[in-house]
Order: sequence, then C-alpha cells, then structure tokens
Amino acid sequence: MTEEGNRPGLAVIIVGTDPASQVYVRNKCKDCEEIGVYSEEYALPAETSQDELCSLIDRLNDDSKISGILVQLPLPKHLDEKAVINKINPTKDVDAFHPSNVGKIMIGDYDFLPCTPAGVMELIAKSGTQVEGKKCVVVGRSNIVGKPQAMLLLHKNGTVTICHSRTKDLAQECREADILVAAVGKAKLITGDMVKPGATVIDVGMNRDENGKLCGDVDFESVKNVAGAITPVPGGVGPMTRAILMKNTVHAAEIN
Ligand code: NDP
Repeated sequence: MTEEGNRPGLAVIIVGTDPASQVYVRNKCKDCEEIGVYSEEYALPAETSQDELCSLIDRLNDDSKISGILVQLPLPKHLDEKAVINKINPTKDVDAFHPSNVGKIMIGDYDFLPCTPAGVMELIAKSGTQVEGKKCVVVGRSNIVGKPQAMLLLHKNGTVTICHSRTKDLAQECREADILVAAVGKAKLITGDMVKPGATVIDVGMNRDENGKLCGDVDFESVKNVAGAITPVPGGVGPMTRAILMKNTVHAAEIN
C-alpha cells in the first residue's frame, strides 16, 4: 500500500497523564512502527478544552495522511467523551465507538469491529472452539467490550447470555458457559468452581492484585485446571487488541 501511495496512518490522541493510558499509547505507536504504518501522537495537557480537542479531530478528519483516529479513553472529567467520539469521521473511527459504527455492528454490516471484542473472537477461533450452537456467557455490559462482544458471538450463532452487577446468581450463569468471556474489571472474580469443565475462558480484565501485580478477572490458577482453553493476563487479550487496531488502521486506509 505504501508503494502505491496509500500508506496507512494512525493518529493517537491522549489527554492528561494517566500512566496506564500512556503505556497503551506508546505501545500503539510502537506497533505502527513495526508494521510500517505512519503514526502521529498527540499528548495534550489535562486542561485541554473541548473546543481544542474537537478542532484537532476536525483537522485530522481532513488530513489525507491520517486514515485512523484514536482517542485514548478515559478522558479527563471536564471533557464530553460522547461528543468527542461523535466528532471522529466514522470511516476513520478505528476503535469503532462512533454511534454509526455501533449501529452497523448491530445489523452485522460493518467497516470496523471494536478492537477488544474482535480480538476475543480471533482468540476463540484460533483455539479451535466453534461458537455456533454454544452457550456463551459474557460477564460485563460496557459499550466498549461487553455489549459488542455479545453481538459478535450472536453473529457467529452462539446462544448468548450477558451478566452484569445485578445478575442474581453469577456463578450459576457462568457454570453453564461453553464459552465464557470476563470483562468486568474485578481481580480474580471468576474462580474454578464457576467454570464448566472444558470451557473456553477468555479474560479481558486488566487489574492489579493485592500485591500490585497485573491480573485478570479470572483466577488463572484455579480455572486453568478446569477450562479446556484459557487466556493469560498479561499476554492474552491485550496483544490481540493491539493487533486488531493495526488491522482496522490498514482497512481505514483502504476505504478512505
Ligand atoms: P466497565 O467498568 O465499563 O464495565 C464493567 C462491567 O462489569 C459492567 O457492565 C458492570 O455491570 C459489570 N460488573 C461489575 N461488577 C460485577 C460483578 N460483581 N458481577 C458481574 N458483573 C459485574 O469496564 P470495561 O468493559 O471498560 O472493562 C472491563 C475490564 O476489561 C477492565 O478490567 C478493563 O481494564 C479491561 N479492558 C481490557 C482491554 C484489553 O485490551 N485487554 C480493553 C478494554 C478493557 P453494570 O453494568 O451493572 O455496572
């Protein structure tokens, strides 16, 4: 594509100095470099105004070197996240968070899939697990992970249950899952006794345990002996999410 004059380009915007977000942004730019994608990083101060952020997005929407725009979330509290996402041209929305892209995913006719749920589907496929006809349980219903995850499993003909903080008996729901996706943000919430023997378990969570060590929503030690397949944290969903972002950026260059 570069030789043909259509080098994919990603603009990553970060507002403020959240250390985890800074690591994510650095990794995204490193990935671009590794595969030959042009990248621009915008590290804006925490006090950046809504107008300043929106004019930067306007400028990037019109910039032909930039095929994908990613705004690292969460944004500082004084900024309106929804309005910022709405500003991104949907054909450059490589995170697939714009309502137009969310709607397209709902009807199964999309340009981009959100990076984390799409990465999870890739991991399930590569583990050799068929989704069709399987009982799938997604724990978490965020717009970024849980809801689109459930939709993607449904598109693959899974029978899907979505659990959340008001679910009555989480352990019982989880025990019925052939495919269990945990996207909660609670360290080691899912334990071995909550998992059906042989189930495929995908852990999206990124938390710190009592010793400050990075861990998932799944208690890996107790679940690994029960599950048929399981992803670790770190080294599971995180790297797949990054890979899908690169795939979306290349696709954005194709359609822009
Ligand atoms: P949110 O906080 O937006 O959503 C969490 C969801 O979990 C909510 O739907 C909430 O329910 C549900 N929940 C909370 N407590 C419980 C409980 N005790 N039982 C059942 N459900 C519960 O988080 P995100 O979806 O943004 O992220 C989830 C996790 O995934 C986080 O750890 C995040 O860091 C990680 N993550 C990892 C990524 C990666 O690349 N690896 C990318 C994105 C996220 P309710 O709606 O009722 O409040």
